Amino acid sequence: MPGAPVSGPHGSAETPLVQPLDEHNRRLLANLHPPDYRNPSPKDRYHLVVLGAGTGGLVTAAIGAALGAKVALIEKHLTGGDCLNVGCVPSKAILRAARAWNEVRHAAVRFGAPAAAGQGDFAAVMERMRRLRADISRNDSVARFRDMGVDVFIGTGRFAGPDTIEVEGARLRFRRAVIATGGRPAIPPVPGLREIEPLTNETIFWLTTLPRRLLVIGAGPIGCELAQAFARFGSQVTLVNRGPRILPREDSDAARFVEEAMARDGVRLHLGSKILSAGRQGSERTLVYEREGRRETAVAEQILVAAGREPTVRGFGLEAAGVAFDDAGVKVDARLRTTNPRVYAVGDVSSRHQFTHAADAQARMVIQNALFFGRGRADSLVMPWCTYTSPEIAHVGMYEADARRAGIDVDTISVPLEDLDRAILDGSNEGFVRVHLRKGTDRILGATLVAEHAGDMIGELALAATAGIGLGRIGATIHPYPTQGEIVRKAADKFARRRLTPLAKRVFALFFRIVR
Ligand SMILES: Cc1cc2nc3c(=O)[nH]c(=O)nc-3n(C[C@H](O)[C@H](O)[C@H](O)COP(=O)(O)OP(=O)(O)OC[C@H]3O[C@@H](n4cnc5c(N)ncnc54)[C@H](O)[C@@H]3O)c2cc1C
Repeated sequence: MPGAPVSGPHGSAETPLVQPLDEHNRRLLANLHPPDYRNPSPKDRYHLVVLGAGTGGLVTAAIGAALGAKVALIEKHLTGGDCLNVGCVPSKAILRAARAWNEVRHAAVRFGAPAAAGQGDFAAVMERMRRLRADISRNDSVARFRDMGVDVFIGTGRFAGPDTIEVEGARLRFRRAVIATGGRPAIPPVPGLREIEPLTNETIFWLTTLPRRLLVIGAGPIGCELAQAFARFGSQVTLVNRGPRILPREDSDAARFVEEAMARDGVRLHLGSKILSAGRQGSERTLVYEREGRRETAVAEQILVAAGREPTVRGFGLEAAGVAFDDAGVKVDARLRTTNPRVYAVGDVSSRHQFTHAADAQARMVIQNALFFGRGRADSLVMPWCTYTSPEIAHVGMYEADARRAGIDVDTISVPLEDLDRAILDGSNEGFVRVHLRKGTDRILGATLVAEHAGDMIGELALAATAGIGLGRIGATIHPYPTQGEIVRKAADKFARRRLTPLAKRVFALFFRIVR
């Protein structure tokens, strides 16, 4: 059972919304939480009130307003939510920099490039991230949504009844409401951990100096991505995880590639560790844990907690609205409707897929279902995702175990990246594609890709799985040579070869003997 969130930027008067307060973050605030902003006077009744302006809430509000509905959007912190402010955007900006640092460090040996000297400038990495994030923030700005005709309210929204939400003294009555309050980092109940104020994704992007030593708790996507990036910047990183492997939700062969790459980048992986306590030692922080029957104490300037997420479900009157929830989130049916028929939920607060594109897809569906009697089912969405380690792991649809649980027999085709010319020439030939097909057919049930740009390559397989395009037709599609994307066609070729029955092989052999 995860602990309550540590004090962070959300809703606390003494804690700033974002740090440092440089020109980039001031620009961010001007877009996402304008200091001089005044809430509008509420309309009599809204077609739609949206609570939370992360991806799920913004997309819901934008589509609702574009279709002519009267829409109110409420945000207590920064519009844009986690993805823009403390998630995808800042993490991918620094991952890009970490990739560049790593390339430069190894370019002389790998490519005969001029040798690089010097330490690198971590402060510049973080400033670049803040600048780009502020640039991107225009898309999610309060002004942009106001211009779309959305009534934007800054403040904490609370349900006051089944059809009313209050914010900053205003009462907003609604025909339909959408809860899009997202989630927060979970802090495991380790004695002393909360007291030493560890970093989470809400505060790590505030750093301006590189921690010499960094301890990371948790080997999910966030822990692995950031551990590898900080190791590439030169931190001594130790990743401590309770489970015996990293990325437990992914294909185990795929995770092994990433584990080896992280170890090569200098991340010390202390898997299978039971954390006993946390504390302080002078200006540093300590973690005591048991590993392989021994007790170890690790010391670092900073500890990053990336041990899972918990949905934001408490403290805003869900009980008053008759909306059922538990520690896993707001309860919704397949059509995203809560136990209050006027109220729907999208995104991290209610979804088992906690991705920006999942919140986006659900928001598009919820508009149909909530306002137009739509019958869209969230469980029918084919969901791809990617972990942006180096190499990346991208996946879509079912794993073999999912298919087995559903009683579906599968054929699995795997092709290693080391067989691919472009991967060899790029010097990034570690990885594979693995496609699961309904047995005896070429219908794609799921696929995993491990490659430097797997996230960009999974789209073809996601399209095929969504549109019912078989692997055979992918094999008949011409792919440019030499590209990493050819790996998918190679999987199709392998499938075609497998399909050749012994009888067909004998017939071909006979034919070629005759036409000699
Ligand atoms: C470090 C990190 C990296 C990530 N990287 C990726 C990635 O690369 N790709 C990807 O697809 N996903 C990624 N994610 C996940 C992605 O950020 C989330 O899935 C996405 O932000 C969910 O959007 P949402 O709208 O459901 O919630 P959120 O973005 O969390 O937005 C919820 C909003 O609701 C507001 N709110 C809450 N309660 C109230 C209230 N009572 N009143 C008013 N406002 C309220 C919050 O302040 C917040 O702004 C990452 C997440 C993290 C933490």
